[in-house]
Amino acid sequence: MTSFLTHRARVHDSFLPLHRRHSALRTCLTCFAPYGLRATYHHLTLSAAIPRRLEADPDALVRAVEELHEARVLWRARAEEYTAQRRAEKWAGRRAVANPRPWWLRSWWDGPHRAWYDAPFHHPSLRLPEYVRRQNAMLDGADLPGCPACGDERPPVSNSTGHGWVELCRGCAWVLAPCPCGQRHQVVPETPFNWNGIWRRAHMSDEGTPNAHWPAV
Ligand SMILES: [Zn+2]
Ligand SMILES: [Zn+2]
Repeated sequence: MTSFLTHRARVHDSFLPLHRRHSALRTCLTCFAPYGLRATYHHLTLSAAIPRRLEADPDALVRAVEELHEARVLWRARAEEYTAQRRAEKWAGRRAVANPRPWWLRSWWDGPHRAWYDAPFHHPSLRLPEYVRRQNAMLDGADLPGCPACGDERPPVSNSTGHGWVELCRGCAWVLAPCPCGQRHQVVPETPFNWNGIWRRAHMSDEGTPNAHWPAV
């Protein structure tokens, strides 16, 4: 059994202490996290309504790992197809990686989703399986409207880089038009955060609703 499935079973195990089940969720995220580890965790706290006090709703951890699992199944099916296709291409003498590069091989440093890494409360609001379905469809050549990541069709936000402008998706901060210098610039979060605070769900209430006072607390 893979590490993901072993740890998924631990998240489900109601005989384990809650903090162990919570750290098993983290291990699952190290295996698969379509928005990056920190942003995917942040997403799951909202979509599964994980309360600040885990005792208030232990099932929230199960909802979170099941959303992740559902997305992972979709990703694995597509990734296996891709591997088989690459193998066939190599047989036929085509060694270079085909364009477009599959979404799960995008570099965090150099990718248009760098903001999700730099400021983990920026990410699409799509449920993870929907995001994976959308990315797989685009890899298969679907021409979908709006932001490639989240489908948001509102006008972008322009951010100055000091020597030029980048245009970011209003919904998820995906880079729609890069800085003219060609570099990927770090995205400086407009609200300072610390990862420990997100990990302890300072942005959530005890009931599992978003904390209206975050990040001021
Ligand atoms: Zn977007
Ligand atoms: Zn630049």
